[in-house]
Amino acid sequence: MIISVPKEIKNNENRVAITPAGVKELVKRGHEVYVQSTAGHGSGFIDDDYTAAGAKITPDIEAAYKMGEMIVKVKEPVFREYNLITSGHVMFTYFHFASSLELTQAMINQKAVCIAYETVEHEDRSLPLLVPMSEVAGRMAVQEGAKYLEKPMMGKGILLGGVPGVLPAKVLIIGGGVVGTEAAKMAAGLGADVIIMDSNLKRLRYLADIMPANVKTMASNEYNIRKMIRDQDLIIGAVLIPGAKAPKLITKDMLKDMQRGTVLVDVAIDQGGCIETCRPTTHEDPTYIVDGIVHYCVANMPGAVPYTSTLALTNATLPYIIELAGSGWKTAVAQHMELSKGLNLCKGQVSCSGVADAFNLPH
Ligand code: NAD
Repeated sequence: MIISVPKEIKNNENRVAITPAGVKELVKRGHEVYVQSTAGHGSGFIDDDYTAAGAKITPDIEAAYKMGEMIVKVKEPVFREYNLITSGHVMFTYFHFASSLELTQAMINQKAVCIAYETVEHEDRSLPLLVPMSEVAGRMAVQEGAKYLEKPMMGKGILLGGVPGVLPAKVLIIGGGVVGTEAAKMAAGLGADVIIMDSNLKRLRYLADIMPANVKTMASNEYNIRKMIRDQDLIIGAVLIPGAKAPKLITKDMLKDMQRGTVLVDVAIDQGGCIETCRPTTHEDPTYIVDGIVHYCVANMPGAVPYTSTLALTNATLPYIIELAGSGWKTAVAQHMELSKGLNLCKGQVSCSGVADAFNLPH
């Protein structure tokens, strides 16, 4: 199959959908791979790295789309790309169709086969192509939180791990899924006193088993949250209710109970946020202050570390790309339940109930 990788043109997107290692794996299996010139620059890969792995370089985005049978991307296509996509293309990327009628309608009109990373789903309902970005965001949440706890950043001026003779910082993580677990490991590794709250007792039992001694678990409910926020230094929001907006677990009135300079990192901001006073921010201007409390609410945290994010994402997508290219999309989707869940649009028809329900479209 001919696989093509355009350069991402969405604002501030530095990831790329294939690494030179991925190109090598595909070329080894007899596929042809085209990569748009400079597509890998933001993630630290130059065109020569790709050609050395066996790819051909296309000069522009038009050529990239024209050459490929399967287009592999990171983010959903933007307006400028709509007309480059045809009924002959299999598109494999993050789409998030349910949040954009315009994009959904455009891809229906172009009649492409659209397989969305975010709905590829294992039998146990886990989402293998979302996990890597949650892992990145969870680890980053602690790194960013530690930075904004510094006094010049308007934080309390406390070092996360303390020093001999001085107590470490207190970190509360609400939500003990992928983000929460990675955040807890990082904070614990730095020596902080960590509490993870979750509403799922089975999950808390598991976390209590695997976490080091400086991580404690606690049931998530309003009483416990109100009690614990009073003396925390860093609070990380990491809850998810699949398919729904995040519940507001920290309300505006609770801010007055916190100490000034406490840092809130609401990782769940991409689902509306689990802290009432949080609104989406960007890497250019990541924080703002409400009632003396520092709010960090960047909606695309992995975007700040494109090298790590690209490698993490492509580690997870490559086996599916190999399958789609090797068997063809029809056979791959028929044989692999997780890929069939990923099929959102097919030649002008909606094949994912979530997308159909979002816009009342037939499916
Ligand atoms: P996950 O499904 O692995 O974990 C979510 C956890 O939240 C589950 O353990 C669940 O039991 C728990 N939960 C649900 N309701 C709760 C409540 N009331 N109190 C406490 N816990 C509760 O999800 P994840 O992959 O860890 O993602 C967490 C959030 O981070 C999601 O909203 C996701 O979209 C977001 N995210 C954001 C970024 C970013 O850049 N901002 C990046 C990746 C993920």
